[in-house]
Amino acid sequence: MPDVPVMGDPGPTGRFGRFGGMFVPETLMPACIELEAAFRDAWGDESFRSELDALLQHYAGRPSPMTRCERLGAELGGVTVLLKREDLNHTGSHKINNVLGQALLAKRMGKRRLVAETGAGQHGVATATAAALLGQECTVYMGEVDMARQELNVFRMRLLGAEVKPASSGSRTLKDAVNEAMRDWVATVENTHYCLGSVMGPHPYPWMVREFHRVLGIEARRQSIELLGDVPDVVVACVGGGSNAAGIFSGFADDRCELVGVEPAGGAAVGGGVPGIVHGMQSFLKQDEFGQVEEAASISAGLDYPGVGPEHAHLAASGRATYPSVTDAEVIEAFQLLSRTEGIIPALEPAHAIAWVSRERASLRGRSVLVNLSGRGDKDVAQMMEILR
Ligand SMILES: *Cc1c(COP(=O)(O)O)cnc(C)c1O
Repeated sequence: MPDVPVMGDPGPTGRFGRFGGMFVPETLMPACIELEAAFRDAWGDESFRSELDALLQHYAGRPSPMTRCERLGAELGGVTVLLKREDLNHTGSHKINNVLGQALLAKRMGKRRLVAETGAGQHGVATATAAALLGQECTVYMGEVDMARQELNVFRMRLLGAEVKPASSGSRTLKDAVNEAMRDWVATVENTHYCLGSVMGPHPYPWMVREFHRVLGIEARRQSIELLGDVPDVVVACVGGGSNAAGIFSGFADDRCELVGVEPAGGAAVGGGVPGIVHGMQSFLKQDEFGQVEEAASISAGLDYPGVGPEHAHLAASGRATYPSVTDAEVIEAFQLLSRTEGIIPALEPAHAIAWVSRERASLRGRSVLVNLSGRGDKDVAQMMEILR
């Protein structure tokens, strides 16, 4: 086996060890192959890179800051805690990095329409935002059940000029929205790009989406060294599909840092899943005894994905990263802890990462921990008000 660098280029077959690949119907193979060639070409082109960098800087607000948490660190008994502030990006999370990259790539490929899937609506809103900015048509598929639960995000997407279409098959949630978006893409591939929202799906998506989020890992490494004089001992991120974790891990893959991806206990694909194939990739999935994909259940809609990106499956299998899980009760505590000690209300997703740090405080004493604060908590305040009442 050639020595593939950790978090490097997975090559034309898109394999991360025994995970990844392109498990799509024959009709989608040309689209995936065309996309891989277009991304490879764009990513090697200085003019594409500088156009994207300019959007990230002047539109999304990069670089995002890094905050040292004195009060939280003291409350945890002497842990050095740093936060990478993806919550301060335009649209309030890391998702903008990926959608700006893909929307710009679609433009370069001559495709004037984007389709996307969304669960809670965050990726749909981000995609609709990028489409509005670049003057592209946008259709977002969302499970019927999720549309009813997330009315506000449906309204946001429509305000941004996107068409929101219900996915009414299966459990009428995220995995069904992915199926609908893929079906649309097969039929419209001439003029349409599928803007997938995490490091999942068939090659080249897991690799491409990670590369679009690499910017946050590069910034975080530089900022850690500025603040600590060194890289942190531990890098922690929450894992749904795994894009914000892949972005920050990529900055530290060659360092001595421990990499920790935190899953919700109700949707632990690495911790509780088995190898299988879904949505075009081989990875760890939650499955029932018949091999059917099982619904994930977590307090945080953004982590309700029953699978995980194939590179995380590989990082877990190879031992480079670990994937513990935390319970909803621990997340509710952590949400309040960060709000109270630092004046930062986190999204429920990164509250999972904070919850793990809080649980591990004894073993982390005297060490430095970098947490990727993937998003802000405004969207979750109403839900928390109900829970805490
Ligand atoms: C969507 C989302 C996630 C989960 O997606 P990943 O691909 O696992 O990063 C995490 N945090 C926030 C704030 C999100 O909006």
